[in-house]
Amino acid sequence: MISSPVVVVGLGAMGSAACAHLARRGVPVIGIDRFSPPHDQGSSHGGSRVARRAYFEHPDYVPLLERAFRGWERLESETGLACLKRVGVLLMGGPDSEVLRASQESAKRHSIEVMALAPRQLATAYPQFGLPDGTCGLLEPDAGFVIPENGVEAHLRVARRHGAEFRLDTRVVAIEADDDGGVVRLEGESIDASRIVVTAGAWSNQLLPGIAERLHLAAQRKHIVWFRPRDATLCSDARMPAWVIDDGGACGDGLYYGVPTWSGQIGHDGVKIGFHGPGTPIDPDDHARTPDPLVVDRFRNDMERYLPGVLGDPVAAATCLYTMSPDQHFVIDLVPDARSVAFAAGFSGHGYKFAPVIGELLADLVLEGSSELPADFLRVGRFTES
Ligand SMILES: Cc1cc2nc3c(=O)[nH]c(=O)nc-3n(C[C@H](O)[C@H](O)[C@H](O)COP(=O)(O)OP(=O)(O)OC[C@H]3O[C@@H](n4cnc5c(N)ncnc54)[C@H](O)[C@@H]3O)c2cc1C
Repeated sequence: MISSPVVVVGLGAMGSAACAHLARRGVPVIGIDRFSPPHDQGSSHGGSRVARRAYFEHPDYVPLLERAFRGWERLESETGLACLKRVGVLLMGGPDSEVLRASQESAKRHSIEVMALAPRQLATAYPQFGLPDGTCGLLEPDAGFVIPENGVEAHLRVARRHGAEFRLDTRVVAIEADDDGGVVRLEGESIDASRIVVTAGAWSNQLLPGIAERLHLAAQRKHIVWFRPRDATLCSDARMPAWVIDDGGACGDGLYYGVPTWSGQIGHDGVKIGFHGPGTPIDPDDHARTPDPLVVDRFRNDMERYLPGVLGDPVAAATCLYTMSPDQHFVIDLVPDARSVAFAAGFSGHGYKFAPVIGELLADLVLEGSSELPADFLRVGRFTES
């Protein structure tokens, strides 16, 4: 039995979930964050995150997604906070779209309900989209989006209820650890830890000494823009699922996505639009937080094309951080030379919906040294072993 605490560094999506799982198991936990989560300085803000299980990124993620969806439901019933909204997710793309093909493949392999929509069916069911002739659809009705601020808050509440303690607005300056435990250094204070979990998002490079240089993680700044609906009926969550467009590169190398405002949403009204694509590396401690008006204009012009006459002016915009791994897959493991430390990083812009299962995985790794969850494909060895 562990007597000195497990310290969790970073209380965003993944760290808050790790705290909840550790505390539920009766382990003494201290969670530390440089800000006061849920906050808007990292990667877990903006009101919504698309949550699908027919996963084009790789079918091996699907069992983890199934468990994560159950985790969101459990969290909702434990806290009463809305976390997962099943408004459906609609993928759209040309007949050669790799996004649609790979999603269908994942759905087939794991028996996930999806509906393929031929171009005519797509145009009839979703007349708000103005897409090129031949565009097909793939609807996953049981998918939707998660609410990132609520997810963080709910995990922290569960952790607190089970005895976890938090140190907020407190920056960790260094971690020193070996296989048997470590020390977490704050400004002017240190905490001895039996085990340490590092979930520092875009700041992971600063806190994973000895391994960060082998992971090549890169922080990137992304924009999200909320548009006022011009035609509110076509933008309501009853008529518009969360969606992703694979336009074959017509609007740049990436995917536009959108999430309708959910009834009762705190914050901005309208449809939230983002673009999932390559970006320029930034320093998470020194970058422009103010949205770039040129990017907002680009979004507006592209939405005139894809949702013609449906959206009005942008009402708000924000920036948010991705942490890219070299292969755009997550990296979750024990630190090879300090096995009292588990970490999860490199979520590459698609990690949020997994948070409950990542918390469970981190708790397994740091307490047991291994996990029965099928996540070996995310281990660090793919970068550190030749
Ligand atoms: C615009 C955008 C759109 C996205 N869309 C989707 C989507 O549709 N679906 C999806 O599944 N995912 C999506 N993602 C990705 C998802 O949001 C991230 O993968 C996830 O939020 C990462 O969580 P995290 O816990 O790793 O990082 P964070 O939530 O940023 O948490 C890291 C925490 O560590 C703390 N910290 C850092 N350094 C220190 C330190 N030295 N001391 C103490 N605390 C520290 C930070 O303050 C922060 O709270 C999107 C991300 C962005 C930015």
